[in-house]
Amino acid sequence: MISKRLEKLSSSSSLIREMFEEGKRLTELYGKENVFDYSLGNPSTRTPHEVKQSIIDCLMNFSEKELHGYMSNSGFPSVRKAVADDLKKRFSVPYDENCIIMTVGAAGGLNCVLQTLLNPNDEVIVISPFFTEYGNYISNWQGKMVIVEADEPSFRLPIERIAGAITKNTRAIIVNNPNNPTGVVYSSEEINGLSEVLKAAQAHMQTSIYIISDEPYREICYEKMAVPFIPSYYENTIIVYSWSKSLSLPGERIGYIAISPNASDNKLLFSSMTVSNRIIGFVNAPSLIQLVVAKCLDVPINICEYERNRQYLCKELKRIGYSFVIPQGAFYLWLKTPCDEISFVNKAKKHNLLLVPGTAFCGKGYVRLAYCVDYQMIERSISAFERLWNDIGGMQGE
Ligand code: PLP
Repeated sequence: MISKRLEKLSSSSSLIREMFEEGKRLTELYGKENVFDYSLGNPSTRTPHEVKQSIIDCLMNFSEKELHGYMSNSGFPSVRKAVADDLKKRFSVPYDENCIIMTVGAAGGLNCVLQTLLNPNDEVIVISPFFTEYGNYISNWQGKMVIVEADEPSFRLPIERIAGAITKNTRAIIVNNPNNPTGVVYSSEEINGLSEVLKAAQAHMQTSIYIISDEPYREICYEKMAVPFIPSYYENTIIVYSWSKSLSLPGERIGYIAISPNASDNKLLFSSMTVSNRIIGFVNAPSLIQLVVAKCLDVPINICEYERNRQYLCKELKRIGYSFVIPQGAFYLWLKTPCDEISFVNKAKKHNLLLVPGTAFCGKGYVRLAYCVDYQMIERSISAFERLWNDIGGMQGE
């Protein structure tokens, strides 16, 4: 006998992972050159050489005990201070090391934040479509996910609907900007609008409602706009950051939580999240890579390859006739399907195109393409997109 919840989860494995496995199967059958795998958000840009150099420097310069020993559950104080100073310098919000907890990626950070905030049945608002794991993370801590649909077809922040979804049990809202899967970047006007709604709700209900700002794609923005830094708009903001995408380090599992110095109960949040990091079983974020990223805070984030992929893919898909949300950030393209998305994904598979159905993100009628792939693969895939288009008879079903 095992947990009923886990039994259910393991029998309905992630659609994204399923596609990824299918990609491997098709590659064996048809060869790598003939399979076009847009399933997984695994960064294709190389890890910067500064990261490799920093790994070597850390191995040479720190003692073995410093490198490999136990430490504070919130992470190395020197690393937390470096992260706080960097945030303070870039965004003029007075963080210090007691606002920062080093985490096992954004996934680890989100779980620590949710465990800390939630009592059973407390509500967390998410905006659909959303990163699938939010549902699992919220139910890990007996929270209730409240789904609010984004404004279609723009997929902008649905501020009025969010206002309508707030209850006395609302503990938090997860905002993911730039967004996975839509590629939308919320503007400062939208974040301001959301902040006003939340401030009014807090005053009315006499509670604290936190924005959990999930920001693994913060630096991946193609438009000439700054991604709004939410703590500058709303005091009760908890940032969850990760270097998985910005430095192409997803396997290293490194990120941080930054509690706004202006958030209510910020000291209690810090001590409770530190305990959470321990009792979830992470104990602390991986030690070597903490020291490494602290030395790479100034490394420029290279988005040139994603930008080139984005431009080319958008141009070609538009030429063929597809409709999609023009991605402003992250490395995903949210494509409208002329038939239901499952049939579309199955038809695409016949052309060796691997796409993830929108249902995986709670978004019907769309598929997600992760274009963090080789440019040459995109070039080779265009004729497959053309064949798929002809196969489904264009958008005539609309
Ligand atoms: N949040 C979003 C929106 C993501 O897309 C991802 C990963 O793809 C994560 C969180 C988890 O990131 P990490 O690898 O840092 O755990």
